[in-house]
Amino acid sequence: MTNPDHPGPATRIIHNRRHRDAFGSPYSPVYNTTTYRFENTAQLLDVIERRTEGNLYTRWGTNPSIQELEQGLAGLEQAEAALAFASGMAAISATLLAHGRQGIVCVGDLYGGTQELLINHCQALGIPVTFLFREDVGQLKDALTEPGKLVYFETPANPNMAILDIREIAQTAHKHGALVAVDNTFASPINQKPLALGADLVLHSATKYLGGHSDLTAGALMTSTALAQPVIAWRKNLGQLISPETATLLARSLRTLPVRIRQHNDNAMAVAEAMEQHPKITKVHYPGLPSFEGHELAKQQMSGFGGMLSIEVAGGQQAAQEVADRLQVFLLATSLGGVESLVSQPSATSHHGLSREERLKRGIGDGMLRLSVGLEDAEDLIADLNQALS
Ligand code: PLP
Repeated sequence: MTNPDHPGPATRIIHNRRHRDAFGSPYSPVYNTTTYRFENTAQLLDVIERRTEGNLYTRWGTNPSIQELEQGLAGLEQAEAALAFASGMAAISATLLAHGRQGIVCVGDLYGGTQELLINHCQALGIPVTFLFREDVGQLKDALTEPGKLVYFETPANPNMAILDIREIAQTAHKHGALVAVDNTFASPINQKPLALGADLVLHSATKYLGGHSDLTAGALMTSTALAQPVIAWRKNLGQLISPETATLLARSLRTLPVRIRQHNDNAMAVAEAMEQHPKITKVHYPGLPSFEGHELAKQQMSGFGGMLSIEVAGGQQAAQEVADRLQVFLLATSLGGVESLVSQPSATSHHGLSREERLKRGIGDGMLRLSVGLEDAEDLIADLNQALS
């Protein structure tokens, strides 16, 4: 039975419109305008002084195409507010500057660009940054020495898919007066809703699953109206807004997100199960496999296990490189979340800068290959892996 008062995520994202145009178009056109004309100065002042709602200048975030996208993004995470950005890193940096200036405590492994931002830029600006290994999450309360800090993490994490307990971390953080930000890029809002589990801020590289076709770069923050306010000011003054054209393209992609994610989940599960049986694969890291360390926790906090997985090839780094080079359907490329399947070797790409010991400590074996499982036929993906491994 459908319930018109509580439509499901697929219905919501397709019908979540902000504007209706005079021509009956089911979706808004691209409003490429940078500025807006007023009838008189009194009207302009009403908008500037916030007596009436209105658009003034697109970089401020007041643009119909961008606002329509943001309404869709908020709906996906069932958030009060969403902000769209020119990239995932723009969303992350504005959020850290708005809410992390008292200190940022990171748990587990982070995307390399985020790590670089924290070490090279946030610390240089005098922001205290602490890193805790996933196993040391029990020490989180000791790192939250005074209130006002920001706890930041990703789950599932890159590239070993390690799962962190969002509810438990949020409870500890809130008890010590900290906010919680989760990068939800790997899971997507269809498989995991960190706000419902207690997080305060959810970030996405929309370049990945939200865009879904490897043809746009964008970022998103979903949060409460109150926590969005200071981020809007940073976005405006750092000039990090998404362009109206990209916003329209991303809004188009969101309409197929639920169905794409369902297929990513199914394909990744099929690939993970096949790889688990393969004699040349020593380990498969996929939250959906009962053999995976974080499986029980993933079952509790995720409604699907996602399209990302890692496999460890017997024979180490060289053997894995040869497999990656022999793959034909999987493209050798960084990034993830697109319709096409991608393969990358963390020791040669995202974690190239780490020593072997550091990589092993982070659960990144020598023969690890990270797979972003796309929307091709699962049998073709498995056949491609089998031929590359043979
Ligand atoms: N967060 C995660 C988990 C990512 O994988 C990436 C990029 O790969 C980013 C953030 C940064 O996103 P963008 O490249 O859109 O700036």
